[in-house]
Amino acid sequence: MKEKIQEQFKQRFGTDGVVYASAGRINLIGEHTDYNGGFVFPGAIDKYIMAVININGTDKVRVYSMDMDAYCEFGLKEEDAPQEQWARYIFGVCREIIKRGGTVNGFDTVFAGNVPLGAGLSSSAALESCFAFALNDLFNENKIDKFELAKIGQSTEHNYCGVNCGIMDQFASVFGKKDCLMRLDCRSLEHAYFPFHPEGYKLVLLNSKIKHELVDSPYNKRRESCERVAATLGLDTLRDASYTMLADVRDKVSDEDYRRARFVIGEKQRVLDVCDALERGDYETVGRCMYETHDGLSRDYEVSCEELDYLNDVARECGVTGSRIMGGGFGGCTINLVKEDRYDNFIATAKEKFNAKYGHEPEVINVIISDGAHKVID
Ligand code: ADP
Ligand code: MG
Repeated sequence: MKEKIQEQFKQRFGTDGVVYASAGRINLIGEHTDYNGGFVFPGAIDKYIMAVININGTDKVRVYSMDMDAYCEFGLKEEDAPQEQWARYIFGVCREIIKRGGTVNGFDTVFAGNVPLGAGLSSSAALESCFAFALNDLFNENKIDKFELAKIGQSTEHNYCGVNCGIMDQFASVFGKKDCLMRLDCRSLEHAYFPFHPEGYKLVLLNSKIKHELVDSPYNKRRESCERVAATLGLDTLRDASYTMLADVRDKVSDEDYRRARFVIGEKQRVLDVCDALERGDYETVGRCMYETHDGLSRDYEVSCEELDYLNDVARECGVTGSRIMGGGFGGCTINLVKEDRYDNFIATAKEKFNAKYGHEPEVINVIISDGAHKVID
C-alpha cells in the first residue's frame, strides 16, 4: 500500500511526503459496558488507513482518496466544510485540532486503506486517527497528547459526521500496540495493556453482512433499563453493582430490566477474568468468556439476531475456542478465537451452512493485533 500511495502522490503533487498509518480495531470482550461505566477491551488490527502527506505552504488542503478515486480541496475555516463524507473526516480532524489551539496549515495528501468499511472494524476511527497523529507530528511537534488525539477523532464524528460515538474506537486506533489488547476503564479512562499473542490460535471475524434496521431505538431502551436499575440501587451506573445487590432488588425492577442488568454485571466481571487469563496465557478461559458474552447478549440483553446466533452455533459445533457477536448488535460480525487445526474446517463449514440458510457467504476477515497510529519509516 505504501508504494502505491507514494507513487500516486508523486504523480499528483510532484514531490515526496511523509507516510503515516493508523489501524482499525476489534473488541475482544466488554460489550454495552461503555455507557455503564464498565470496561472495554479493544486492540488495533493489521488493517490500516495509510496517508502520504506534505505541507504545501498554502491555506488549502488537497486530498486524493485512492479507494474512492475522488479528489477534494478545502480551506481550514469552519465554513469551508466539504460535502463529501470521506473528506469531512479529515476536515473535522483539522478543525478539532485548530479549535483546541493547535496548528494546521495547508497540506497535500493521498490516502488509501484496507479496513473494511462499515463492518464494525471502525474504518472511520482509523482515518481520523491517522490524520490526527500525522497533523500532530507535522504541525504541533507532537505536543497534543495521545488521549487528546483520540478525543479529536471522537469530536470529529460528533461534530462533522453526525455519529454520536464513544471513545473506544479512536482510543484503540491511537493507543494500539502489537500483540497487546487494552483494557479501557470507561469511567476513569484509565487504561492498561495486556499481552495477546495466541500462538496456535487464529483470530477471525465472520461478517454476516446483515444489518437489521430497527424502529424503536433499542440502544436507548437498553440504556434506560440500565439507568433504572442503577437508580433503584442508588448508584450512578451499574459499574459498582454486583449480582447480590441485584438479587436484593429483584422484585423492585421489571423482569426485563433485571436481565439487562444481569448481563452488564456479568460482562464487567468477564473483562477482568479475561485479563487475568491472558496474563497466564490461558486462551481456553478467554474463549469460554467469549461464549458467555454471546449468550448474555443474545438471551439477557437481547441484541443478537438469528443470523449471528447461527454463526455462533456453527462455531460451537466446529469446536471453536471462543465466539461471540462483536459490536452493538442486530447484525455485523462474530469474532472467533480458533485453534489453527480447526480453522479450515470452521471456515468451510460456516461458509457452506450460512450460504445454504441465508443465501450468501459470510465475509472472512483474519486479524492480527498490531500497532495503532504511527509514522511509517522505511
Ligand atoms: P466503520 O464502522 O467502518 O467505521 P463508518 O460508516 O463509521 O464505518 O465509516 C465509514 C466511512 O469512513 C466511509 O463511508 C468513508 O467516508 C470513510 N472511510 C473509511 N475508509 C475509507 C477509505 N479507505 N477511503 C476513503 N474513505 C474511507
Ligand atoms: Mg465508524
